[in-house]
Amino acid sequence: MKLVTDNDDSIVSGESQGLNEQQTEFSLRPQRLDDYLGQKRVKKELAVYIKAAKQRDEALDHVLLYGPPGLGKTTLAFVIANELGVNLKSTSGPAIEKAGDLVALLTDLNPGDVLFIDEIHRLAKPIEEVLYSAMEDYYIDIVIGEGQTTHAVHVPLPPFTLVGATTLAGQLSAPLRDRFGIVEHLQYYQVDELEQIIQRSSNVFQIEIAPEAAHELARRSRGTPRVANRLLRRVRDFAEVRGEKVISFATTASSLKQLQVDDEGLDQTDRKILRVMIENYHGGPVGVRTLAANSGEDVETIESLYEPYLLQRGFILMTPRGRMVTEKAYLQLGLPIPNE
Ligand code: ADP
Repeated sequence: MKLVTDNDDSIVSGESQGLNEQQTEFSLRPQRLDDYLGQKRVKKELAVYIKAAKQRDEALDHVLLYGPPGLGKTTLAFVIANELGVNLKSTSGPAIEKAGDLVALLTDLNPGDVLFIDEIHRLAKPIEEVLYSAMEDYYIDIVIGEGQTTHAVHVPLPPFTLVGATTLAGQLSAPLRDRFGIVEHLQYYQVDELEQIIQRSSNVFQIEIAPEAAHELARRSRGTPRVANRLLRRVRDFAEVRGEKVISFATTASSLKQLQVDDEGLDQTDRKILRVMIENYHGGPVGVRTLAANSGEDVETIESLYEPYLLQRGFILMTPRGRMVTEKAYLQLGLPIPNE
């Protein structure tokens, strides 16, 4: 068994979360739409669809949530179930190994329940195919027996809502994507929204943070609540050691420096990716596989986690021949901008 500890030093990557973090993530999760901060357009739309489904006493249409890790897809799935007043069963694409695992989950649902599948783009094809009829007409056909005794059994399912989450919507097959009636793209959060999330989390942690410190943390959290909460936990440690009752701006700034999070919220891996593009490939264009091989990160992590933020902040550009760095990247790393 793999032991999970809480000393993961990667602020951005969601790979090795400690047990403490998983517990705090759970306690920090808002339960209702009103407490779910930011994502105003998504919330407004979902509020209408949820109300309509409840009024008609029907299951909510299937919902696909996509966007980079840590933006609140899992949280929103739980909020949807709470608002509908139904139970949620949670699983993930890689966790469903056999079609039978999915069948067991589906046949265990009560009418109106939510089945949440995280990383739905990683479902194996034969399992995905079981979902088609389940989503469209609420039934599955199971083949039982072997040889001459083989026969198909038609199993009706209760009406249910599938909430799928993915960081890579482009990897979803068209037949699966088309079966979601509601598709929502979660965007990076604004600084003021992250400030509110940080203040809310500090209430849960029972600590106080000065408004200017919360602002600084929010600015450097790469638009991502999970990163904001992680940084808050680290900064809290520094403040406690210094005997601060209220987390100050000075402690926040010096802790972020120690954690090597720069003024744009870039961490060591972001900078490593930019540096590889500049030093090994004259700034690009570079293909993602080449970049992965040279930076020691895997392709999916680069595509779903690092690249979207670097693109959004204008450090890289996508061209038909691959990604290229911009002048801003040279400036951020303090490197001379090449003449051409
Ligand atoms: P994802 O599933 O997209 O990777 P999560 O739903 O696990 O992201 O969110 C990560 C953490 O960020 C959660 O534990 C929650 O505390 C916080 N969070 C996410 N979205 C919000 C939000 N809109 N308001 C408040 N906190 C949020």
